[in-house]
Amino acid sequence: MSGSTAVKIDARPCRQSCQAFSVEHIRKDFPILNTLVRGKPLVYLDNAATTQKPQAVIDAINHYYTAQNANVHRGVHHLSQVATCLYDDARQKIAAFLNATVECEIIFTRGTTESINLVAQSYGRQTIHEGDEIIISGMEHHSNIVPWQILCQQTGAKLRVIPFDDDGNLIMDEFDRMLNPRTKMVAVVHVSNALGTVNPIQEITAKAHAVGARVLVDGAQSTPHTAIDLKALDCDFFACSGHKMYGPTGIGILYGRAELLDAMPPYQSGGDMILSVTFDKTIYGRLPSKFEAGTPHIEGAIALGAAVDYLNAAGMETIHRHEQDLLQYATDAVETVPGLHIMGRAREKAGVLAFTMDAAHPHDVGQILDEEGVAVRAGHHCAQPVMQRFGVPATTRASFGMYNNRNDVDALVAALHKVNKVFA
Ligand code: PMP
Repeated sequence: MSGSTAVKIDARPCRQSCQAFSVEHIRKDFPILNTLVRGKPLVYLDNAATTQKPQAVIDAINHYYTAQNANVHRGVHHLSQVATCLYDDARQKIAAFLNATVECEIIFTRGTTESINLVAQSYGRQTIHEGDEIIISGMEHHSNIVPWQILCQQTGAKLRVIPFDDDGNLIMDEFDRMLNPRTKMVAVVHVSNALGTVNPIQEITAKAHAVGARVLVDGAQSTPHTAIDLKALDCDFFACSGHKMYGPTGIGILYGRAELLDAMPPYQSGGDMILSVTFDKTIYGRLPSKFEAGTPHIEGAIALGAAVDYLNAAGMETIHRHEQDLLQYATDAVETVPGLHIMGRAREKAGVLAFTMDAAHPHDVGQILDEEGVAVRAGHHCAQPVMQRFGVPATTRASFGMYNNRNDVDALVAALHKVNKVFA
């Protein structure tokens, strides 16, 4: 791995909570959950859009600006060294959390969107040519469609799409048929934000690698709900967003295999990503600096590290079990609402319950729910091809986080009955 700063990740953090998971205890860590909306307690079920932040994350940001603020990788002075250590520690925590091989494989970006654009424009433009094929799935978020479309326009490559069935399962036979030696990239979502489907990433990766293709996984919706093991997934790139994992907005992660990142050209250029500059020639910095031009989102990275600490303390397996239980409870409960149709009944699901109602348009549903203090998302969820597949303009989506409980689901269901009453 030429040129990389290779710090081996020795030990994985505790991923199984040592204490029993108490959602009531967890809720106390999220001050915003005490908010009243129109005089009613907030029921926050829009976690797929963004999650709320625990006090530990808020404190990390506050403490950074109160006592630690300086630019990183530049100063010899005390505060700069403190900030640099914290920033580098955060990378190490995230590398361990995702089970990366070496921490220089973790690049800080603005989020999933920027991570995917980075891969498309840096890796893609270097390695994908006219006649090559890129495979995505029919349930991608726009941020895992448009960057590949642009790359196809730039290179003359062809975009192919794995369809999914009426329940929201990828049709893997179609994927098998699509794969061929011209396939250069398979970019798929781990958990669909519109359907909740958990896709079989290990199988996809193995099959893609067998024809020599690289695999990018959009992990925006999987990282908050399930333990991620990059070594087991065996993907080449993995993208996720801090704000969906109880961390701040404006910070995200691109994981890439070190040997691929090493060989890729920079995505952006400027300060901090160089070893030396003359007017004749610039020598780029080693990983991860090569992909982190300019002053980074320092407090964002540090606070994302705090979010990862928080998730580790709760235990990802425990969070997963809690949310699976809640999803089952919510699925059973909303089915008691007349005229409600769940969209997405995949074999394996996480965190998302999307539906339409005969009585009202999703935006009207969302508005009535808001009057009851229940925050959900109504719209196409930046996944318009999924809406087109089902022939609907939009859905209402309740999405769950670690702090949601059965009372939240009960409030949702009561508000849905109210929708039927209002529009009767
Ligand atoms: N992919 C998926 C599956 C998502 O749900 C989202 C956010 N809704 C994104 C990508 C984009 O994430 P961000 O806006 O944080 O870049």
